[in-house]
This record gives sequence, structure tokens and C-alpha cells, in this order.
Amino acid sequence: MDIRLTNTLTRRKEPFVPGDPKRVTMYVCGSTVYNHPHIGNARPAVVFDLLFRLLRSAYGADAVLYASNYTDIDDKIIKAAAQEGVPINVITDKFARIYRDDMSALGVLAPTFEPRATEHVDGMIVLIQRLIEQGAAYVVPSGVYFSVAADADYGKLSRRAQDELQAGARVEGEDDKRHQSDFALWKASKPGEPSWEAPFGQGRPGWHIECSAMIAAQLGETIDIHGGGLDLVFPHHENEIAQSETAHDHPLARVWMHNGMLTMDKEKMSKSIGNIVTVRELLNQGWQGEAIRWALLSGHYRAPLDWSDDLLQQAQASLDRLYGAALRLKDVAAETAEAPAAFVEALADDLNTPAAIAELSALITNANNAKKAAEQAKAKGELLAAAQLLGVLRHDPQAWFRDSFSGDEAAEIDALVAERVAARAAKNWAEADRIRDMLAKKGVEVMDGPNGSTWRRKG
Ligand SMILES: [Zn+2]
Repeated sequence: MDIRLTNTLTRRKEPFVPGDPKRVTMYVCGSTVYNHPHIGNARPAVVFDLLFRLLRSAYGADAVLYASNYTDIDDKIIKAAAQEGVPINVITDKFARIYRDDMSALGVLAPTFEPRATEHVDGMIVLIQRLIEQGAAYVVPSGVYFSVAADADYGKLSRRAQDELQAGARVEGEDDKRHQSDFALWKASKPGEPSWEAPFGQGRPGWHIECSAMIAAQLGETIDIHGGGLDLVFPHHENEIAQSETAHDHPLARVWMHNGMLTMDKEKMSKSIGNIVTVRELLNQGWQGEAIRWALLSGHYRAPLDWSDDLLQQAQASLDRLYGAALRLKDVAAETAEAPAAFVEALADDLNTPAAIAELSALITNANNAKKAAEQAKAKGELLAAAQLLGVLRHDPQAWFRDSFSGDEAAEIDALVAERVAARAAKNWAEADRIRDMLAKKGVEVMDGPNGSTWRRKG
């Protein structure tokens, strides 16, 4: 499989060549755990989960090491803990658990490593100490700063010129840093805040140094792929590069990948507009996790994606079609198959999910048209393999349709289907037809097979 990925560093789509195909490494900046993840937070998790699945399929499941972190020390976390009057880990443990549960509902596999920043403070201190010794960082009363002037390469990812960077916004409490674009590696401790002892003073780490230290500890000094949202290119990823490459003197990542941003009904998502929807809210509204996943993957990851109920509605309809085919073939033993080449090639081409979804649609048509047992077994095998790579079709097909109705509605539908089976057994065709019509009015289609009747939502 030849994988090609768009590298933000070069602004080009390039063949992906890992440093060691037996040890492929990927890091994606994770969640700051102080509130419920919103749908914009879910996009990188789902996009890079798809890449994780593709890499596992290309290099072998054990050959791919994927780390995504929890930022569990941060101003917002400290504020949330103070408001509730609890230690910060009460907040971070709770929201790390919620994050993992929500992502699991979206079919996101657990990464190989999920490091927490507070478990890696020692590594951050070592890294900062090295930067100070190299003359790339300096200590002042408010903390330790990285000196952007000491890094001739600074700005290479975001392609911002140094003079443009000097005009950066002022940050409160950082009046003693030498240049405006210098950034905090370590913040001197303030009363009432969690802090750690370090040779350069009691304090806590800045955000950027967390990722640099966790990457080095979990994956190594140069990794194959570093990912995250487009909003992280500057300053976060630029600063990760500055710290890591200055300290280690070789590239932090071979490929930098960034997913586009989500808008909500064509407006930028923001707290002030109040148009942010959490994954939990969508699940509570009755949307199935796979429909949310499908909607997130329906557009190309690099493009912006406009989130709307229509998008979810379309995702639900596409999945109903997929599950309908699986339900039709539920008694067929699937042939062991690999995902068809055209489907895999679409994903390998910089995760072209719109093209992959079109290929999957053709596989569904194939499965629906298959008549002979051997054709059906092959079609089902290919459908399962492709769906697994995409991270969908994880549920029993009948359960899928049942879950798309509320519990009461599903129970009522089950009862009607059972009554109809009884009517057919008694050869009461008029009654059986009457019940079929009732079900049709509820949007339900009954499918009669040799092993009884099943039902699905009508397309
Ligand atoms: Zn990061």
C-alpha cells in the first residue's frame, strides 16, 4: 500500500516513508480535560483514528505506536477546580473519562499511549534545563522563556516571518520576557496553584513543552507523523518544533498533518455565539455514535466542514443503507476478504474519505445485488473489511435499527413484527398486510426471510 499524505511543512502531498516500518510513530495533540468535548474536538480524534487504522492495516497492528495526550494542567483547569473547590485531579480524572467514553462511542480506538502531562513533568524539566544550558531559554522572575531569536528556523511550519511574530499580542503576567514572541516554558508558581520543584524555580509547565516532553518520552525524538487541528499550527506546533529541534538537533516529525475546522450552520463555532454542541448532547439527542463519525468523515479532513442536522441526517441514511445490506445478508457466512483495492487506495490517497465512501456505496450495491451464495459470501466479506477500516458497522444490524428508535418505539415495532409473524403462520394474509402497512407508516420496512422476519428503517 502506497500511502500519500499532505505535509504542512512542505505544503505538498508526499509519499509516506516511516523511519522504521516496524515501528511507525504518530502523535496527536489531545484534549485539555476540564469540560465536555465538543464536536470540533472530535474531528481530529476521528480523522487520526482513521489514519491509525490505515497504518495498522499497512504495517501491522503491532508496528504502529500512536500517542495522544491529556493536558491535565492548565489555567482553565485550575480555574474550574477553584470554582468547585476541589483538587485539579478531580476535574481532570472526570473529564478524561468522559472524553474516552465519548470517543469510544464514535468508534475511536484507544491510542497505544494516552500520557498525562502531570506524569511527565520530570521530562519537561530536563528539556527546559537543556534549553537554558544551550542559551535558547532564559530565566526571569515570571518563569522560563524560549528565546525565539535564538532559533533561526522559527516560523518554518506556519511560514510567518520573524518581524510579523514580534508584533504578537501581549500576554498578561509576562512583562519581563525579552521579546513579545518569546513563549513560556515554565511559569513561576502563584499562590494556591499546583506547582513542581525545578532547578530554575518552583512552578508549572507551559502548554507547548508538555507535548515536546511526552513525544520524546513515549515515541522518541523524531516521530513519523504529528497531527492536530489547523488552529494548532501557530503557535503551538511552531513552538513544539522550536523546543524539540533546538534541544535534540534533529527534526521532531517527518510529516505534519492538520485537519480543517468545523463550522456550525456556516458560522464559526464559538462559546460567545453559543453555537457549540458537545458529543454528549448529540448522543443524548438520539444520534448514534457511528452517524456522528460518518458525518465527520464525509468531507475531506483538510477542508472545513459545516456541521448541521442535515449532515447528520445524511450520515444516518448512508449507514441505514449499509446496515440494511448487512441485515439482508445476516445469515450468510462472510468470506474472509481484504478491503477492495479501490477503497483502500482512496484512503491511502491522503485519507480521501469522500472517494472511499463512494467506493463503499458501490460495495453495498454489490452486496444487495448478489444472488448466488458464493457471491453473497464474497460481497459480505468485502463489505465487512471496508467498513472495519472506516470504523463503522460495529453493531449487530438489527440492533442498529432498533437503536435508531427510542426504546418504547422499538418495543412497539418488535411487538407488531411478532404479531405479523403469527398472522402469517395462521395464513391470515389480510391481517399480515394490515400490520405491514401500519409498520410502513412508522417508517419501518419488514423483511421476510427463511429464518423469520427482521425489520429496518425505510430508506
Ligand atoms: Zn501538542
